[in-house]
Amino acid sequence: MKIVVILGAPGSGKGTVAARLVKKLPLRHVSTGDLLRAAAKNADTPAKKAVAETMRKGELVSDEIVGKLVVEQLSSCTEEYLLLDGYPRNEKQAAFLEAELAKDGAKVAKAVWLDVPEDVLIGRLSGRRTCPKCGAGFHVETMKPKVEGVCDACGAALVQRPDDQPANVANRLKVYAAQTAPLLSWYEGRGVLEKINGVGDADAIASAVAAAIQA
Ligand code: AMP
Repeated sequence: MKIVVILGAPGSGKGTVAARLVKKLPLRHVSTGDLLRAAAKNADTPAKKAVAETMRKGELVSDEIVGKLVVEQLSSCTEEYLLLDGYPRNEKQAAFLEAELAKDGAKVAKAVWLDVPEDVLIGRLSGRRTCPKCGAGFHVETMKPKVEGVCDACGAALVQRPDDQPANVANRLKVYAAQTAPLLSWYEGRGVLEKINGVGDADAIASAVAAAIQA
């Protein structure tokens, strides 16, 4: 199994690229954001409520909770590639991942960075609409569903994620700059970083990422 990390700010298109890669390669897409949203759904216990509230504000959920979810995925993956989207998010998580993989003599094979300027990120995040049922992503201008407000894939009503609202978007970008962006030099130092321009046609970007992963 080859471990690939996809890095990039919120709104850089990690989920969009991952959805395309799943169709091109024998790959498992692991989004810690999706796993946490599923785990916190209904928020009917104090622990779930706390996770949902942390996510709404765009802060990071505890390293321990997220680490456990990732370890479960690592141990159950049977696909050739495992794509980590949204993990690691800080140096502590990167070190934890490295230590977990080292137990099996493995390491991160590639870290792909989707590079997108901040003004583009803000436009993408504020116009993003998400399917609460199947997780499909849309945009009010650049990736409209066939019927306004309705998911093409499963027919559910689309929503704006609470963390995509303007005040929370600003905070997420701040958290990214402070905690996650340092991982670019972390992976560069390990010789596995691949920078991909994340602006342009989504299919072309996904093809560039697929090529980088297979190189
Ligand atoms: P995402 O869908 O990747 O933008 O993640 C949504 C939210 O889930 C983030 O703003 C965090 O609150 C939480 N989250 C996702 N991945 C992690 C992680 N690796 N560590 C801590 N919190 C995370």
